Amino acid sequence: MGLLNRFSLSRNDMGIDLGTANTLVYVSGKGIVLQEPSVVAIDQDLKIPLAVGEEAKKMLGRTPGNVIAVRPLRDGVIADFDTAELMLKTFIGRVRGKTLSQPRIIIGIPSGVTGVERRAVIEAATQAGASEVRLIDEPIAAAIGAGLPVSEATGNMIIDIGGGTTEVAVLSLQGTVISESVRVAGDELNEAIIQYVKKVHNLVIGERTAEEIKIQVGSAYPTAEDNEVVMEVRGLHLLSGLPRTVTIKGPEIRESMSEPLSVIVEAVKRTLERTPPELAADIIDRGIMLAGGGALMKGLDTLISHETGIVTHVAADPLCCVVLGTGRVLENKMLERVFSGQSR
Ligand code: ADP
Ligand code: MG
Repeated sequence: MGLLNRFSLSRNDMGIDLGTANTLVYVSGKGIVLQEPSVVAIDQDLKIPLAVGEEAKKMLGRTPGNVIAVRPLRDGVIADFDTAELMLKTFIGRVRGKTLSQPRIIIGIPSGVTGVERRAVIEAATQAGASEVRLIDEPIAAAIGAGLPVSEATGNMIIDIGGGTTEVAVLSLQGTVISESVRVAGDELNEAIIQYVKKVHNLVIGERTAEEIKIQVGSAYPTAEDNEVVMEVRGLHLLSGLPRTVTIKGPEIRESMSEPLSVIVEAVKRTLERTPPELAADIIDRGIMLAGGGALMKGLDTLISHETGIVTHVAADPLCCVVLGTGRVLENKMLERVFSGQSR
């Protein structure tokens, strides 16, 4: 208690979104100063990290035998403590540069992260030079960053669709009333596309290509120009073993993603069913807010409003909601109750 009073603003304080796919850092007084993939490339023979962030992501699927590119938070749990620590320390170090002052740091983490993992995140940030560390659950940070009035006694629903996890939460008075986290999000959509292209077009493609397909021609709901959305895709032909190009259309990609998309929709419906009636009434009035990179999927807002009967909005800058939320918390003492873990 009282800690936040000392948490008065200093120029180097940081808000961090430690996401399964991307890590972002906000510095008070400056804004977002770092946005990189949560990836580490490691030389397995020498047991040393070769690259962290953007450079490491370029190596995904393209590494020689002894080099692996790891996503330490892939499924929303910290699968690999050492690598997660190394990544967090590297990013904090990049932002701190040569400054000697010790920043206070607020970190947004997936809400499924366990107590032990929370300690590990706090420990890593402390080792990276933080004078004080606070944790905040991603849905709350996302809601704040999306501009929802989380301090009011009104129900707000936020759906944060990241790489590894989708978090659905109903918030009121700076707290989580109910929430559900499913390990189906952007990565699963990519995986569904890989399987489909292999099965129907006999073409083997990697994760990066699948992600490009998803972003360029993927959609969650039919549109008028549906059949004109096409893309030339290169991969390895399964039968001849040779490189080949095939043309892929929007509707088939939507169809290929239908299963993971319905898992997300079902999680939203289950959460709505469990929402206390007064808060449900608020949500009907205010609508549902979508955040996270997955919110950029074309037609996802339409699909969700069609399935739930509730107006659904996409946040202004979905990929930045969580980090902007941590930044607002850094700069606003009123938001004291939102923390879910702290150092010392
Ligand atoms: P996390 O918080 O888990 O790190 P992000 O919020 O950064 O995740 O979102 C990353 C996910 O968003 C990835 O799966 C990526 O493929 C997906 N994504 C990014 N842009 C788009 C887009 N335009 N359309 C669909 N999905 C997208
Ligand atoms: Mg996220």
